[in-house]
Amino acid sequence: MARKFFVGGNWKCNGTSEEVKKIVSILNDGKVASADVVDVVVSPPFVFLPLVKSSLRPEFHVAAQNCWVKKGGAYTGEISAEMLVNLDIPWVILGHSERRQLLSESNEASCLCAKRLYLSSNFFDIQYLLIHIFYFLGQFVGDKVAYALSKGLKVIACVGETLEQRESGATMDVVAAQTKAIAERISDWTNVVVAYEPVWAIGTGKVATPAQAQEVHSELRKWLQTNVSADVAASTRIIYGGSVSGANCKELAAQPDVDGFLVGGASLKPEFVDIINAAT
Ligand code: PEP
Repeated sequence: MARKFFVGGNWKCNGTSEEVKKIVSILNDGKVASADVVDVVVSPPFVFLPLVKSSLRPEFHVAAQNCWVKKGGAYTGEISAEMLVNLDIPWVILGHSERRQLLSESNEASCLCAKRLYLSSNFFDIQYLLIHIFYFLGQFVGDKVAYALSKGLKVIACVGETLEQRESGATMDVVAAQTKAIAERISDWTNVVVAYEPVWAIGTGKVATPAQAQEVHSELRKWLQTNVSADVAASTRIIYGGSVSGANCKELAAQPDVDGFLVGGASLKPEFVDIINAAT
């Protein structure tokens, strides 16, 4: 089954409105393969989503970098899936390692929360505890993916191991467990792109070799085949992320199970156009 190449640009927490306009104009002027051949989705910070959506060439799409795990409400600072749908934002990135590792999408928050609950038990604290128990059980990302899909968003779901996990030989166990947390909560994979992003390669300049990327992508596809279905394994795009650049993208794109990229740093530069064209 042919899988359309997919290139996502994760702008992270970067840019002013002036800088964003410049990146958009580079993308709009870039000579790129047709939309029949490659899906391009860029992910600016939330506040710039309307600006980018209204000024970006129409065949390119936008993604949010996160959304809340359920219906919006008293969750200060969060953005709900419903809000993204309301603004006609089609895609969302979920489970990015910077959120898993740096922004408390982990079990540490459970301890803080248990302390807070101990100090003052009221309804809102119990809700807070439940939310952080989700973190603790590693279900939070899976639940976010399921909720976002249920509201009609398309999801770029990120998985990937740390350097310690790779060095201890646990790469596939980690990636399989992260994928399982998603697989247990969804039944339709049509609107899911899986991004394999080894944490040690993100923003470090240490890109996985084409063989390392291919090995994990192929194992991940086998995992989908065994644990979800042959159809889902054959049709789901598995993209690679981690220090992808204009210089290394072609060799990575030539691997049979690498269906595209999620690009951080280089998505803010003119070389992103070369990465979009990596498979052509
Ligand atoms: C990312 O943030 O998803 C990423 C892959 O970053 P970089 O390309 O900068 O390593």
